[in-house]
Amino acid sequence: MKRLVLVGGGHAHVHVLDRLAESGGWSGAEVVMVAPPRHHYSGMLPGYLQGQYGEADLRFDLPALCRAAGVRFVDGLAIRIEVDSGQGGRVHLSDRTIPFHHCSMDVGSAPRTWGVPGVKDHALSLRPTSRVLELDRRLAGLALRGAVPKPGSAASEQGAAASISGPVVSEPRVAASKPGPMGSAPGAAVVVVGAGAAGFEVAVAVAVRSAAEVTLVEESPQLLPGYSARVRRKAHAVLDRWGVRFLPGTAALEVNDGQVRVGEGRSAGSDEGPATRSEEEAAVSTRDGARPSDVGLGAQSTNRGRGRSLPSDLTIWLAGAGPPPLLAQSDLPLTDEGFFAVDQSLRAVDGVPVWGAGDCIGLRGYPWMPRAGVYAVRQAPVLARNLEMALTEEGVGSFHSYEPQASFLSLLNTGKGRALLRWKRLVYEGRGAWWLKDWIDSRFMRRYHELESATLEEEDSQ
Ligand SMILES: Cc1cc2nc3c(=O)[nH]c(=O)nc-3n(C[C@H](O)[C@H](O)[C@H](O)COP(=O)(O)OP(=O)(O)OC[C@H]3O[C@@H](n4cnc5c(N)ncnc54)[C@H](O)[C@@H]3O)c2cc1C
Repeated sequence: MKRLVLVGGGHAHVHVLDRLAESGGWSGAEVVMVAPPRHHYSGMLPGYLQGQYGEADLRFDLPALCRAAGVRFVDGLAIRIEVDSGQGGRVHLSDRTIPFHHCSMDVGSAPRTWGVPGVKDHALSLRPTSRVLELDRRLAGLALRGAVPKPGSAASEQGAAASISGPVVSEPRVAASKPGPMGSAPGAAVVVVGAGAAGFEVAVAVAVRSAAEVTLVEESPQLLPGYSARVRRKAHAVLDRWGVRFLPGTAALEVNDGQVRVGEGRSAGSDEGPATRSEEEAAVSTRDGARPSDVGLGAQSTNRGRGRSLPSDLTIWLAGAGPPPLLAQSDLPLTDEGFFAVDQSLRAVDGVPVWGAGDCIGLRGYPWMPRAGVYAVRQAPVLARNLEMALTEEGVGSFHSYEPQASFLSLLNTGKGRALLRWKRLVYEGRGAWWLKDWIDSRFMRRYHELESATLEEEDSQ
C-alpha cells in the first residue's frame, strides 16, 4: 500500500478529493490530507465582505470532503517536508510525523511584505483566504465601536472623513449613494496596500459595506498594474463611485498601530496610456500587484525620504504573494524567488516524489505564470491524474503535462451586483458581468457542497 500525503487543502487539492470521491479511491493507495479544516474560495471573498454571500457559500468543509473521498484528514499545519535519499519521506507537524511514498503541496502563498516593518504585527492579509473571517470580524468591530457606521445609519450621517496628513495625490471623492463625511466626529480610516486585482476588489468591498474612509495605496503609478488602460479607466470610475481615495506612486514604508507611513513609490506618473499588447501580457503576471520583475525591489530600494502618515484604524496588506515559510524549511528544490520548483508534470524538478500546484509552485519555463486561483484550478486535473499514475502505475506511460493558459477571463467584483469583465480585448463593467461571475463562482462551489451534503446525509442515515 502506497501512501500519498496531501499538504494543504487549497483550490487544487479539493479537486483531487473530488476525483477520489468520484472514482471510489485509487487501488493500492492510502491518502492522507494535512490542513486546517476550513478553506475559502477566493473568487467569493469580496462578495462575502459585501454581504452578497454567507460564509457557508464560499467554505470548503475539508473533513467532510475527505470522508467523501475516503481520505484520512489530519487537522494541522505541516512545518517541514523531509525527503529521503531513496524513496518517499516524511511530513512533519508540530506534534507528529507522517511518512509518505508521495507527497503533494497545495499550501498557497504568504503575504509578500517587501521587508516593510510592522506588516506582520499591524496589518491583516488575506493569505490564506480564511483570514477573510478575521477581516469580517475586524470590520464589524469597527462598526460596533461606531467607527464604521453602516451607510444610512444615524451615526453615519454624523461621520467625518479621516484626515490625511501631508499632500494627497487625488482628493477623496465621495459617492452620492454613500453618506458623505459630515460633522466633526472622526470616522474610521481603512488603508488597503496594493492596488492589484485583490486590493482593488477588497477596497471596493470595504467601501460598499461601510462608511469608512477607504484609501488604496499603490507603489507603482497605476491602478491594476498590468491591466490595460481601458480596464483601468473603468476601475477608476468604480473607485469614484464608492468614494475610495486612490494614491498611486505611493509606497507603504512602515505600518504601525493606527497609521501607515508612506513615501514616494516607483516613478509616480500618468496613470493613463495606450492599451498595449505588453500590458495585456503583463496582466497575466500579476494578481495583486506583484510582478516577477519586482521581486527583490524592497521598500528600501527607492529614495522615498521620511514619508508622511496616513491614519489607519485597519490596514489590509495585499501587496503580492510570497513563498510560504514551510518551503524554505523543507528538502525541496526552490526557484530564485523561493517557490517550490516543479516541471510540467507538476513534480519537483529534481525528481523527488513531491508534487505541487497553485500559488506555492514555480513552474519551470513559465516564470511569468501568475499566482491566481484560476491557475490552481486548471492545474488540478493534471495533478490528480499524475498522482493517480504515480501511485497506481509507476513507470507505466508518461505523466500528463500542464501548460498555463496565456490569458484568463478576469471578473472583478465592483459592488452591489456589478462586476468588471476583461476577456482578451473585451472590457465591460455592469450587471451582466456580475451575473456571469456569480454564475461561474456558484457553479464551482455547488459541486463541493453537493459532495459534502451527500456525505453528511449518508452519515446521518447510518
Ligand atoms: C481578496 C482576494 C481575491 C482573489 N480573487 C481571485 C479571483 O477572483 N480569481 C483568482 O483566480 N484568484 C483570486 N485570488 C488569488 C487566489 O486567492 C489565490 O491565487 C489562490 O487562493 C491560490 O490557491 P492555492 O490552492 O494555491 O492556495 P490557497 O487557496 O491559498 O490554499 C492553501 C491552503 O493551504 C493551507 N495551508 C497553508 N499552509 C499550510 C501548511 N503548512 N500545512 C497545511 N496546510 C497549509 C491554507 O490554510 C489554505 O487552506 C484572490 C486573492 C485575494 C487575496
